[in-house]
Amino acid sequence: MPFPIDHDMHCHSCLSSCSSDPAQSAQAILDHAKAHGYTLQCITDHLWDNLVPGASGWYAPQDVEHVKKNLPLPKDDQVRMVFGCETEFLGGSRLGLDPRHYDDFDFIVIPPNHFHMKNFVRPDTYDTEEKIADLFVRRLEEISNLDLPWRKVGIAHMVCGLIFKEGDQYRVYELIDEARFRAVMRKFARLGAGIEINLSSFWPDWKAHEDAMLRLYRLAKEEGCKFYLASDAHHPRELELVPGLAPGVVEALGLTEADRFILE
Ligand SMILES: [Zn+2]
Ligand SMILES: [Zn+2]
Repeated sequence: MPFPIDHDMHCHSCLSSCSSDPAQSAQAILDHAKAHGYTLQCITDHLWDNLVPGASGWYAPQDVEHVKKNLPLPKDDQVRMVFGCETEFLGGSRLGLDPRHYDDFDFIVIPPNHFHMKNFVRPDTYDTEEKIADLFVRRLEEISNLDLPWRKVGIAHMVCGLIFKEGDQYRVYELIDEARFRAVMRKFARLGAGIEINLSSFWPDWKAHEDAMLRLYRLAKEEGCKFYLASDAHHPRELELVPGLAPGVVEALGLTEADRFILE
């Protein structure tokens, strides 16, 4: 069976500061999902938990109470609406979500590469493609050492232009150490985490960099990882990224239904 294009497990509502778009309501997100025959739609607003000290100025207002303003999510008998979050990871054991709040979310997206947040997520001494590639793998390794409810955890945007905005993201992907990357993907597969195919990262011209864009996904697949689709939409038009781009990416990766991450 083909890999189903019937879900979007990472998207933002108007509650995320980088959206603030009144048109990006939970109901509008559900309406889009329903129109495309989805079975599952997750809303994952940016989150820094009020129980965790050290929020940046940008994150501070985006706490648990804030993202819960979307609750209760609109219900539908065709689309399962899931309340999630996209938290933050600063390295070591510094996650932007406290274990006391794990049960408040049905899906937890962890970004390993929000490296545009200099001197918060990325020390600015990491300033070359080689150093960024090393930092990225280390962050994945550190995330894999956390004690998380793994079966409802997604590793966000494995490729993402934010990894090195002032440099060459494609070069970074090529430089990532294969043995270390394979080992950490094997661990995510064993733990049961999902690996995100973030279609925002594939827009507009992934085919011009196909080998670099797909390298990490191919390695993850070989190590047994399961995958889910995500628009990472902040505005209604971006919800179209899943139906628009996912079929081509899924085909290029040779994914089938057996490769799909299932949220219990
Ligand atoms: Zn992100
Ligand atoms: Zn996001």
